[in-house]
Amino acid sequence: MKTLILHHDDCIKHEPGRRHPEAPARITAVLNGVKNLPGTEILPAPRATLEQLQLAHAPEYWERLLELEPAPEPGENRVAADPDTFLSAGSIDATLRGSGAACFAIDQIFAGKVKNAFCAIRPPGHHAGVETAMGFCLLNHAAVATRHALTTHGVQRVAILDFDVHHGNGTQAIFEASPEVLYISSHQMPLYPGTGYPAETGCGNILNLPLVPGAGSVEFRAAWSGHGLTALEHFGPDLVIISAGFDAHERDPLGQIELQDEDYGWITSEICAYAASACGGRVISILEGGYDLDALASASAAHVTALTN
Ligand SMILES: [Zn+2]
Repeated sequence: MKTLILHHDDCIKHEPGRRHPEAPARITAVLNGVKNLPGTEILPAPRATLEQLQLAHAPEYWERLLELEPAPEPGENRVAADPDTFLSAGSIDATLRGSGAACFAIDQIFAGKVKNAFCAIRPPGHHAGVETAMGFCLLNHAAVATRHALTTHGVQRVAILDFDVHHGNGTQAIFEASPEVLYISSHQMPLYPGTGYPAETGCGNILNLPLVPGAGSVEFRAAWSGHGLTALEHFGPDLVIISAGFDAHERDPLGQIELQDEDYGWITSEICAYAASACGGRVISILEGGYDLDALASASAAHVTALTN
């Protein structure tokens, strides 16, 4: 079976500003990296339904986002949802394709149609909370997908593994009282958003693995093989969701972690090997951050190649 890659051109239409790092060109870079890899199949991402996005977000929050989205007009026209997070014309469709991709990926995997999946979407999601836009994120795609799996596929336990250089505070907050979800994050500390200390353990279902600025392959692999993957095995999920940010790459301008492409291949292979032995290989990966275009292309290629193997 193939690895499904989900994408939609609507994800290019979200325009947070000409100098904003979360740029439309990110998706073009990722697609250039992954589109011709053997063992993959690309399909268009559907929009999430209102019912799906409300699995993780308050109805009033969604209404507010709908009201904030500006109408299409010439020139740059953006509205701030938080100091770093903007909506342009088209942002609503873009973020709906993100959550929709993640839910559709889960449906395809549980229907036995694909081996696993990578959602090449933007804007990212892991800083978004139940009723907060934050850190370039509008909808928390990993959270929506997790609840979708729990409510529609008879899934009992979901693990979310987040290797973005920033802590996924939104995902942690959404699930910190939900023992059916395990959230593990490696991230640079100190760094935005300032959360992700080891003492933040939720109801015993949160594992934070902070990395000091300047850390690289050795520290990253030690954190995951020494703690993260052990906790994953102990938890025993029915499905693994990866929050795949590539901003811990050595080339990335927003982080000071020095990962190489091979490290993304390594962590992905480790996760897939575990999933193959324990949960039918069910893994879906969702693009989060990553702001150097060359690194995005090469690291996402290493990631997807490992998904196909
Ligand atoms: Zn990030």
